[in-house]
Amino acid sequence: MGLYQDIKDKTELFDAIDKRLGTDKAQFIEKAYDVAYKMHDGQKRLSGEPYIIHPMNVASILDELGLDERAIAAGLLHDVVEDTEYSKEDMTREFGEDIADLVEGVTKISEIKSQSKETEAAENIRKMLLATIKDVRVMLIKLADKTHNVRTLKYQPVEKQKRIAKEVLSLYAPIAGRLGVYKVKFELEDLAFQSLHPEEYQEIKKRVAAKKSERDEYIEKIKIILKQRLAEINIDARIDGRAKHFYSIYRKMVTKEKSFSEIFDLRAVRIITNEIKDCYGVLGIVHTLWTPIPGRFKDYIATPKTNLYQSLHTTVFGPDGRPMEVQIRTKEMNAIAENGIAAHWAYKESANISKSNVVLQNGVENAFRTKWLEVLKSWQDPSLDSKEFLEELQYDLHEDEVFVFTPKGEIVEMPKGATVLDYAFRIHTDVGLHARGGKINGRMVTLRTELKSGDQVEIITEKSSKPSPIWLRIVKTSSARQKLRAYFRRLQEESQKETIASVLENAAPVIDENTLKEIKKVKIKKPASKTSLSKQQEPKEYGISVAGWTDVPVRIASCCTPIPGDEIVGFITRGRGVSVHKKDCTTALKQSEWMKTIPVRWEGPGEPIPVQIEVRAKDVQGIYLSMVESISTTETNILEAGASSHPNGTLTAKFMLEVEHLDQLKEILENLRMIQGVIFAERVKK
Ligand code: MN
Repeated sequence: MGLYQDIKDKTELFDAIDKRLGTDKAQFIEKAYDVAYKMHDGQKRLSGEPYIIHPMNVASILDELGLDERAIAAGLLHDVVEDTEYSKEDMTREFGEDIADLVEGVTKISEIKSQSKETEAAENIRKMLLATIKDVRVMLIKLADKTHNVRTLKYQPVEKQKRIAKEVLSLYAPIAGRLGVYKVKFELEDLAFQSLHPEEYQEIKKRVAAKKSERDEYIEKIKIILKQRLAEINIDARIDGRAKHFYSIYRKMVTKEKSFSEIFDLRAVRIITNEIKDCYGVLGIVHTLWTPIPGRFKDYIATPKTNLYQSLHTTVFGPDGRPMEVQIRTKEMNAIAENGIAAHWAYKESANISKSNVVLQNGVENAFRTKWLEVLKSWQDPSLDSKEFLEELQYDLHEDEVFVFTPKGEIVEMPKGATVLDYAFRIHTDVGLHARGGKINGRMVTLRTELKSGDQVEIITEKSSKPSPIWLRIVKTSSARQKLRAYFRRLQEESQKETIASVLENAAPVIDENTLKEIKKVKIKKPASKTSLSKQQEPKEYGISVAGWTDVPVRIASCCTPIPGDEIVGFITRGRGVSVHKKDCTTALKQSEWMKTIPVRWEGPGEPIPVQIEVRAKDVQGIYLSMVESISTTETNILEAGASSHPNGTLTAKFMLEVEHLDQLKEILENLRMIQGVIFAERVKK
């Protein structure tokens, strides 16, 4: 799928129109051109070009989409009512109501959008779409308008460029996808991407170009093998290499966290047949030539997507043993894949069929119309509120991302699974680092809450609030994780300096060279098998520093099992490293009377530590299960669990949990206490 032509003069446009629609219709369109030319005369685009270049390109895209002469005329006239003296009445008189309505519809969309900052964005998007539903050509003209506008985006002030690019990515590109107009969608996305992330765009472009000859060679090889096998069973098919568009490569890298090479090594071919039955014939050949990867076959011919997209998809291990994605479809299906809903008009105008036109087979046109009506109906369903509607709109095409709103109504794109905390870091690093909680659609939520499309998200910050190590488990985006890691690294460096400084300042060294040597002699044994962690006796990597040194073997005392966040104290033991207790542990208090203590400190995320908790509750049905569920929402491993009933109608449940930080334990206990029927939930003290 290439881009749409960039039209520079009138002849270019009218040659194409004349060829496709014939002289009469071309003359009608020319009348619209003359009016647009006259009305915009003297106006200039920011690029310095005469204004008429813009409506001409809009008309050209509509022509390539295969729309009728009235839509193309409306494309030429789409800005005259808004930007010149020419009125709707003038237009109705000269061109008829149909065209005047189309132009009015396009103008309305721009008006709705310009207000959307103040009012709620989701509602506006819906209104805008409802306004277009009477005639889908309105939306197609608007999309063509946007396409040419983003093509010339570089002439806008930077701030405006970014805003338009974001709007295109979050709204117009998904709508193009929803209408099945993938060619428009891809052009919109690549142009917006280029403007939002110019460096990443250039990098991807460079790499795609570098791989071109390798890719071409590969496709040639595939072509030869397939052509021969298909000829044997009399199937004629076109085989194309398929370069992914730049934005989809970028998104794969961001949302799936894949590297360049993983994505660029991906092979992709498309096979275009004449008839539906040949699609399945080709599939058979592909699957006998190369081993299919299980779970990757999809039959969108038998069950088309809601935007009417039809194709067979499969992934096989190609000749070089690497995965190869294969799409198989007929010429008609391919045209629908490029032009989507517009293919319908191409059909209506198919008196003289040429390159981009499609002859839909008998019955297909009806199916097309019915399907389309279904889509429209679902959009108009009054029981669907704005939020649901937005979800519905964006789920189909953005399965791996969600769109949420800032309190001001700006759209923020997040990968699926992202939490309120991820969002906080996306807004600003400082907002993330001082986040305390959030509000979704006005309701208080925890930082762990997963975002859904249409959510309006507000972050509550507090200056004194600091990140907890368990946040590393709450964030799902790599950018937030990186920011947190950087924070903890900084913290660690500072605290190390502090500890060493304090050790040096206290004239009497807390730990002498000989003692240190002795402690370090202890070898950290790796457990032979994965037995229950609570029973392991060997010192482990807990991320605890001893008097500023991080390479001293430590053991977590089993009497109190301190976890990161607890205040701790260390004792030097003979041949067993430094044993670490909670500061308020009774054993430790006794020991400190006759043993030397040594300062110890948590330095960062280490291995999780088993902690025992006890929950007392009313013995009602399902209560135990509620506890287990409540614990699992915090993604905590349960090592051991058990419960016993008491004659007084209560129950005591005990859990051994793998905990990484005191904050995590606090969260678990607080959650448990909120379950109805729970009397208390506490960490077990020995
Ligand atoms: Mn325009």
